[in-house]
Amino acid sequence: MTTAITSESIINIQADAVVIGISGDALSGAAAELNDATAGGLQSLIDSKKAKTCAGKVTSWLQPQGIQAPVVLIVGLGDNPTAGDCYKAGGAAAKSLGNSQLETVAFYFPELDHALLESAVAGSVVGSTGQDLHKKKPSLFRPQQILWATDNSDAVANGSKIGSGVNPTRELVNQPPNYIYPESFAEQTAQLAELENVTVEIWDKARLESENCGSLLGVAQGSDFEPRLVIIRYRGNDSENPAMAIVGKGVTYDSGGLSLKPSEGQKTMKCDMAGAATVVGTIKAVAELGAPCHIVGLVGLVENMVSGNSYRLGDILTSRNGKTIEVLNTDAEGRLVLADVLDVTLGLNPDHIVDLATLTGACCVALGLDIAGLFTNDQSWCDQIVNSAAEVGEEVWQLPMTHHFSDQLKSKIADLRNIGAGRWGGAITAAKFLEEFVGDASWTHIDIAGPAYADSAKSYIDGGASGVLVRTLVNMARGM
Ligand SMILES: [Zn+2]
Repeated sequence: MTTAITSESIINIQADAVVIGISGDALSGAAAELNDATAGGLQSLIDSKKAKTCAGKVTSWLQPQGIQAPVVLIVGLGDNPTAGDCYKAGGAAAKSLGNSQLETVAFYFPELDHALLESAVAGSVVGSTGQDLHKKKPSLFRPQQILWATDNSDAVANGSKIGSGVNPTRELVNQPPNYIYPESFAEQTAQLAELENVTVEIWDKARLESENCGSLLGVAQGSDFEPRLVIIRYRGNDSENPAMAIVGKGVTYDSGGLSLKPSEGQKTMKCDMAGAATVVGTIKAVAELGAPCHIVGLVGLVENMVSGNSYRLGDILTSRNGKTIEVLNTDAEGRLVLADVLDVTLGLNPDHIVDLATLTGACCVALGLDIAGLFTNDQSWCDQIVNSAAEVGEEVWQLPMTHHFSDQLKSKIADLRNIGAGRWGGAITAAKFLEEFVGDASWTHIDIAGPAYADSAKSYIDGGASGVLVRTLVNMARGM
């Protein structure tokens, strides 16, 4: 699929479908032209509430008289559209168009500022892409060409690159666990090195052993797949230290280990590497945008399985930074992986660290399935993430890091235990555990267990992986 701009009018364009974006305001620009050409048809659809202006609402209008295109999709942008509204509108229209096989579709949105147009374009790239990776006949057809009626070709090109960062994140997550395991994930990540200013370093099992990553290796030992740790550097400027390190949990399949999950809980556990996939998609987009920043991504890749060699409840693992950990639940494995990856990260001296992990069901209990939880030891760093998320229209909410939660992580036999004392506040005890491995570094942890993966589709995106927070992190990197 390609994305380009067009200067052709909505009346005369030869396309398989046109999309007209409408907000609560009076019709103007292409919407007014369309309304005139159709003898007031658009306005009467709005007045009769057959077409709605709220963000992401799509109405099909077949065979309208007076224009060349055989189909018009009317999509709402909401009153005073935000970046989130534009992302949803672009996505909902593109997803709706995907019901049939079209060659060229053209988007006519009202005049939008640069950032909003980028979001709309990114939404269209994401919305047109489904999770049907292994179906002979796709359930969502991608048009061959998406045209945008604007002269802002930069915004269209950038929005397309951002969408092309969200999509590989989604694809990595959506691929089944017999396709994506630590080695194959690392191989795919290695392809990023083809991009300008990107280098990729892969640590295999022997290297992880020589680096004393005993916590990560403990989780990995029950799987026939060997673990990997991948370091992806993007140097878009000459600064010595990375401005930001993005760290991702990459448990390519989480059976729970000996603390085995029931079948229901295992069904979607291919998504337990969504944090790592977010790192990959973010760096891809940042590199393609050529942002003048220096950032680094680190992913810890393991599979958490049951075998005669699985790590056990009661085992003591020695992490890379020397702290010993009593394992009291093998399904609290993500934090064990991240403990060592965070320690490796400290050695790269980043100005700030952000980690992403599908870490706890407790975070879903607290915030639901659409909001990511934030935890930090540096309020101003966390605020930057919150502001960036708001700018692109992604939902995050900060949870407290009150000191007493650390008391629950005390062990009688080791420095730490890997679970809290009970079920309450489990997202916070998990974050407190991670905090033990970041030293004095400026750090924010993002629990994406809720929004990373959806069982069913939304109006603007297919079900499965969402690629959540790629846009937030790309936005941050561009500002560094
Ligand atoms: Zn787990």
